[in-house]
Amino acid sequence: MISVPGVKGKKFAVFGLGASGLSTAEALIASGAQVFTWDESKSAREKTANTEYRAEHPKDWPWKELSALVLSPGVPLTHPKPHPIVRKAAVENVEVIGDVELFARALNVLDEKSRPHVIAVTGANGKSTTTALIGHILKDAGRKAIIGGNIGSAVLSLAPLAAENIYVLELSSFQLDLTKSLRANVAVFLNISPDHIDRHGDIAGYVAAKKRIFLNQTPEDWAIVGVDDAYSQGICAELSAEGARKVAPVSAEGALGRGVFALSGRLFYNLDGKTGEAGDVSSARALKGSHNWQNAAAALAAVMAEGVSPAVAVKSMERFDGLPHRLETVARIGAVTYVNDSKATNADAAERALKSFTDIFWIVGGKPKEGGVASLRPLMERVRGAYLIGEAATEFEAQLAGAVPCIQCGDLAKATAQAGRDAAQSGLAAPVVLLSPACASYDQFKNFEERGDAFRRLAQSAARAAGEAA
Ligand code: ADP
Repeated sequence: MISVPGVKGKKFAVFGLGASGLSTAEALIASGAQVFTWDESKSAREKTANTEYRAEHPKDWPWKELSALVLSPGVPLTHPKPHPIVRKAAVENVEVIGDVELFARALNVLDEKSRPHVIAVTGANGKSTTTALIGHILKDAGRKAIIGGNIGSAVLSLAPLAAENIYVLELSSFQLDLTKSLRANVAVFLNISPDHIDRHGDIAGYVAAKKRIFLNQTPEDWAIVGVDDAYSQGICAELSAEGARKVAPVSAEGALGRGVFALSGRLFYNLDGKTGEAGDVSSARALKGSHNWQNAAAALAAVMAEGVSPAVAVKSMERFDGLPHRLETVARIGAVTYVNDSKATNADAAERALKSFTDIFWIVGGKPKEGGVASLRPLMERVRGAYLIGEAATEFEAQLAGAVPCIQCGDLAKATAQAGRDAAQSGLAAPVVLLSPACASYDQFKNFEERGDAFRRLAQSAARAAGEAA
């Protein structure tokens, strides 16, 4: 747990009692503060029953004495409109911050020598993969990497600050909105996608939130910026013009004069006077597809900024297992590979999965999102059959009609069985049963993780029934 300095005897409020809210309350109590908590959900409040921070309605909080309100990143700060608790804090003149801000304050009281390094990662897509990859490489290189934030453990529940640690943090734009004094030694900004703007009002608000990752950087620090979309390119140009930090552009779409770029999976660098080819990740099992080469290029730049040699980094990338639910190979039965891409909750993400394989038996559907899957028709030449599930099934069949054989399956179990049978009987050399639903999961599952776990179980039990090790 991280100890928060300067809070002894002070009063804090924590609103939202998910993992980050609970760990904030714990860390503040352990650091000597008095903590008032609340969550709109009764079951969340119940988790505080036997603690020193038992939930108490905000109307009973000592507002005039609060040092800050620590807001869970899931609670609307500005859009679509500020949550009433945020308005109340404004009226009462109480500062609103997030748990990452408390983490930053803990770092900021340390002098440069005892201050651990922070690598912060943000972007519309690829945050978790890149964060995990950076952590994996650093550990392989013998460094003490500690991964957390929006992935794994909340920041305040990470190992106590120590100079040799390197905190590798995934930060969402919601977390960045609530953070003002974090200084990232290495800030990685992967990409911007206009379909992520809902909670920030417009693209300008979204970009502004993401750019906060570069706040407080010094001339020794690194900004690593994807330049494969126009918004991020603009940010990279702005940062380079500012000259307040070192800037490394990153691309998976073409050669760059400086920075790090991937060409068909081959990684090249020109950083801080070092130039060369780091190696080839095109056959790294967990880095399939050009989107992952963007992640790999960004990770290479980040670990090089921390002194890891490019050759060591690439060797380590080859051993990276990837994350569950993102193009995760879960079973093999004969020639058939089962791939779980349950995290693909929209057509864009499914497109990347479809581009990563050929001879696909595609399980698709769930709770549909705006736009559907019509945009994926050009990729249907790679797909042998679309196995439709969930609420979206009828709509998707209409959108894909004529481009690919559509098989109505109803649910995931039937789809997995049918796609598996068809793949096995296809006689193809390397068919892939791919769950890449292009939909939210809420119609049939609690979340994408539960859907992916169900698929993994189904595939692995089919593998066992076929006498294969899963
Ligand atoms: P995030 O944490 O930002 O949601 P993940 O690493 O969990 O991202 O990846 C989620 C999905 O996003 C992947 O399954 C893939 O479809 C897509 N994706 C991953 N990296 C990128 C990237 N660099 N650019 C575009 N899409 C990506």
